Amino acid sequence: MDRVTLIQALDKIESLIASGGVHHVVTADASMIVDAQTDTELAHIIESASLVTPDSNGVLWAARRLGQPISERASGVDLVDGLCARSAQNGYRIYFLGAAPGIAELAAEKMRLKHPGCNIVGARNGFFPASDDDVIAAEVGELKPDILFVAMGIPRQEKFIARTAPIIQAKVAIGVGGSLDVYSGRVKRAPLLCQKLKIEWLWRLLQNPSKWRKTLKLPQFMLLVLRGKA
Ligand code: UDP
Repeated sequence: MDRVTLIQALDKIESLIASGGVHHVVTADASMIVDAQTDTELAHIIESASLVTPDSNGVLWAARRLGQPISERASGVDLVDGLCARSAQNGYRIYFLGAAPGIAELAAEKMRLKHPGCNIVGARNGFFPASDDDVIAAEVGELKPDILFVAMGIPRQEKFIARTAPIIQAKVAIGVGGSLDVYSGRVKRAPLLCQKLKIEWLWRLLQNPSKWRKTLKLPQFMLLVLRGKA
């Protein structure tokens, strides 16, 4: 985990873009860290990423507990907004890949309104079989994105990014979970009160009860941290 604030994460991503090459930025939450204990491919992806940002309050809690506090989150949702704002200033070419049909396009429209001049060069849904990954990657790569947001859920998005990086060649690719649902307006971000009380997980569970499996990983994560294993 890189102990970065949101602004530091955005600055680092801009420097990765400027440095050339192909970079993977991981937004890590507690469930991802639990999964990485048994999923070696995911663990390797996290270890070799150019930047791993603290995506959840669980991660902040763990950092505090381990004596290496991190002051705030740099979540996928915040990175999408911050980089769209910087695209409006610097012209970065952005691609939105993921979520149900129509959602990525809607999120792109809303972002263009929020940050006029934001250069979103393409958007498409994330519902396709893994056997189509290379074809979709070639289509995305044609548009030469500087920044690729992949919103297909953990660990599908991380594995898609790692496997298709040589085809897409985005300067920076970032897995951002449900962010496009939020910016399309389909899913509401937790109200400020929930964010302050650090119970966003409860809000998300109430909005989408099928996420109970992910919620159960939170106590698992806490146990790992308390036992000193994460
Ligand atoms: N999704 C997708 N393709 C799939 C499965 C899911 O594009 O094959 C999308 C889904 O519509 C949602 C996002 O991936 O927009 C996952 O959001 P979630 O908040 O569940 O992500 P996570 O908690 O894994 O970060």
